[in-house]
This record gives sequence, C-alpha cells and structure tokens, in this order.
Amino acid sequence: DKAELAKLKDLPAVTLDDHHVEVCANIGSVKDTEGAKRNGAEGVGLYRTEFLFMDRDQLPTEQEQFLAYKDVVEAMDGQACIIRTMDIGGDKDLPYLNLPTEMNPFLGWRAIRICFDRPEIMNPQLRALLRASSFGKIRIMFPMIISVEEIRRLKEILDELKEELTAEGVDFDKEIEIGVMIETPAAAAIAHHLIKEVDFFSIGTNDLTQYTLAVDRGNELISALYNPMTPSVLSIIKTVIDASHAAGKWTGMCGELAGDEKATLLLVGMGLDEFSMSAMSIPTVKKIIRNTNYADVKALADQALSVATAAEIEALVKDFNKTKG
Ligand code: PEP
Ligand code: MG
Repeated sequence: DKAELAKLKDLPAVTLDDHHVEVCANIGSVKDTEGAKRNGAEGVGLYRTEFLFMDRDQLPTEQEQFLAYKDVVEAMDGQACIIRTMDIGGDKDLPYLNLPTEMNPFLGWRAIRICFDRPEIMNPQLRALLRASSFGKIRIMFPMIISVEEIRRLKEILDELKEELTAEGVDFDKEIEIGVMIETPAAAAIAHHLIKEVDFFSIGTNDLTQYTLAVDRGNELISALYNPMTPSVLSIIKTVIDASHAAGKWTGMCGELAGDEKATLLLVGMGLDEFSMSAMSIPTVKKIIRNTNYADVKALADQALSVATAAEIEALVKDFNKTKG
C-alpha cells in the first residue's frame, strides 16, 4: 500500500542476497526533480533536453541552457544526472528549424545527425553541459548512435570545446563521463566496440524496440506487435549488458521497459545495473527488487533468454511471480 511504499522509497534498491542496482528518474525539466526526490530516485538517468528547445521560436542560448542544467544538478544535491543531448526529429518537430518533411522521419534527420550538421546547435549545448558540470555530477549522453565513428567525432568536438573553455578560464569537470544510448540495432551489434569509447550505456527500449521489430512506436495499427518482452529484443539487451560488463563498465536502461514492473525481475536477472523511469514508478520497482533473490532472477533470466516466443517469456515470468512472488 501507499504508506508502505512511502517508507521504502529512500531505501536502496538491493536484493535479499545483496545485489545492488540503481533506480533513477527520467526528467524533462528541473520541475521534475522534486517528484524524483520525493519518490526516492538515486539520480537522474535521463534528462530529455529537447524540451528546452520546444515551445519557443528560436534556439535556447548557451547561457539559458547552462542555467537549466545547473538548476537540475543543484536540485539533485550531488546525485549524478545523465543529461542527453537534444533529440529533435523523429516525431518531435521544431518549427523554427524548418526541418524538411521526410518520408521516414524516424529514420531521418534526428538527434545527433542534426547536431553534426548544425554546430550552432551542438556546440552551445556541449559548452553549457561542460560549464554546468562544475556545479554537480553530470554525465553526458548521446542519442541515436549507430557507429564508432560518430562517438569518436563527438569526443573530438568535446575535447575542442574543453580546450576552448580552459583558454577562457572557465571551470568544468575534467573527468566528465560520457555514454551512449543503445537504441538502434546497429549500436547493439557493435556494443563491444562502442563500450571502449565511453563510460556507460543506457538502453533506450522505446526506440530499440521500434527499430529492432520495424514497428513504428506511435502507430496504433501495429501496437500489438510493439513488445520489448520478446526474444529478439531481450537477446539484444542481454548482449549489450554483457558487452559492457566484459569491459568493466555498466549499462542502464531509460526506455519505458525500465519502469515496467512486469519486466523488473527479468532485467535484474539479466544484470542490468541502473533503471531509469518516471518518478511515480520508483517505489514499486524498488519494492520488487528488495523482495527478490538475485540468484533466483538470474535463473529466471537464463530461462527466459532460452525460449523462442514472447508467450513463453510471459508464462515464465508469471509462473515465477506465483511461486516466488
Ligand atoms: C528510448 O528511445 O527508449 C528513449 C528513452 O528515448 P526517447 O523515448 O526520448 O526516444
Ligand atoms: Mg529514443
């Protein structure tokens, strides 16, 4: 019940046999940090910065962005905040950018693809993030990555901007960590290469499901096909987690699946290190984790990854909950 959930919200997300994971919040602005903290978030796992760019008629300046990012990290009181560079395009339009009409916007000019072509968007955002990083713990995350070339280029740009700031005498976190979202099958397939370039992964299951299954995430005609708890998507998720661990690094998840209580045990069992979700879901997910044995859910995950159909996965999870839950 509510009172019980409220009591456990500030306890760590640790299993009965002492396996720790982190439970964080997805936010869209500094306003959401209040709910994140109230619900026991251990940090921000995804700050969708595109909202700073929307509902206005020109790009936000570096200074506006700096203040917005600084507000968020200060509000989170020293907890880490993963801030994603803007992910405009796909279904999110910006009238003042005059984006062309595309046949396949989800396969088109989106996120870092726009940023690479428009340094006047990329550079102020990265400079603002670097500047804000001296006021709290920021990790920068890049969306829609499909290649090692992209992340290397982003790191070069970051290095140039760091030099610029140093020359200007502006402070920033010299050890700032960077990560990529794994939300394309391409990124998942080269996860073992990508992980050498970055500090962490965060799996974006909303897009990863869409691109893996070739099912438009917003198309109601095919919404029955849109299922991340399916052998294809789950095996990709497992590969990504394993690739990060093999390199001594960690993988989080910030797509909807991370906050789906039907998936929690499976994801813990698969070795997922961090879960980021809408704040509302945090207490329930923590409760599930705190009432389970890692050894048991590891066995559940192994079984779920060995079956051929989504129906069998669902049945395994249901059975598990009946006997252990
Ligand atoms: C995702 O794709 O899972 C994700 C978290 O990013 P967005 O929903 O903003 O595309
Ligand atoms: Mg996405």
